[in-house]
Amino acid sequence: MPAAAFEVNNNRLLASLPMQDSERWRSCLEAVALVTGQVLHEARHAARFAYFPIGAVVSMQLPSNDGACDEVALVGHEGMVGISTFMGSVSYLRAVVQRPGPALRMNADRMRAEAESSTAVLRLLLQYVATWEAHIALGVVCNRHHNLQQRLALRLLLGMDRQQDSRLAITHEQLAVLLGVRRESVTEEARRLQNAGLIRYARGRIAVLDPTALAQRSCSCLSLLTGGWQHSEPGDNPATVPTFHASHTQPHREHNGDPDAARAW
Ligand SMILES: [Zn+2]
Repeated sequence: MPAAAFEVNNNRLLASLPMQDSERWRSCLEAVALVTGQVLHEARHAARFAYFPIGAVVSMQLPSNDGACDEVALVGHEGMVGISTFMGSVSYLRAVVQRPGPALRMNADRMRAEAESSTAVLRLLLQYVATWEAHIALGVVCNRHHNLQQRLALRLLLGMDRQQDSRLAITHEQLAVLLGVRRESVTEEARRLQNAGLIRYARGRIAVLDPTALAQRSCSCLSLLTGGWQHSEPGDNPATVPTFHASHTQPHREHNGDPDAARAW
């Protein structure tokens, strides 16, 4: 069954497809439900599918020889997982579902055929790859120059941006692994943020209460990494076409009249 138009429009990359290609893509996309911890592809393996999250969030991780896995990017409704499918290569990253939810997927052979058959599609995909490259480079700079509180605030706001929800299901232990620091260090910084009224955490969940104030504790990387990716057309002046733009997400409301939400948090 073809993907529904609203599903395609809920992924920013798919929504940017040219009209004539979008109809054809809908017939090739399959709706799937991703679950937490699901590995979409392993590092150094060929990906079988490209995934386009429309509610799920996927952590892209670089495994090291000592068994650690540093997170290098977070992909949500703004992008795709499985760039290697149309590049004809293997990925050096491991893709792990961090937040369960729906996604659309296309098999690797079809992705490659689509990239080869349409100049407009190929241009769109390569723009996304260029954004990815900038994203990864920025992550290196961030890890080297910005302190843990800034990086923790950035990671929480990125998670919120990617899933469009201020309630994050993540433990201090997981954050420590993703940020490449000790769990005790994460707990110490999280406590500072909680004491300042910016977040609230309990039992493997963190709610962002004041994203504006949390953004002030983050680093300059935030405005470049949130909101994902922006399509440009040939002839646009590169100097005036940023590949990222900030999005606006609503803070968690503790007393919004939703009894289920109140119990959960
Ligand atoms: Zn930074």
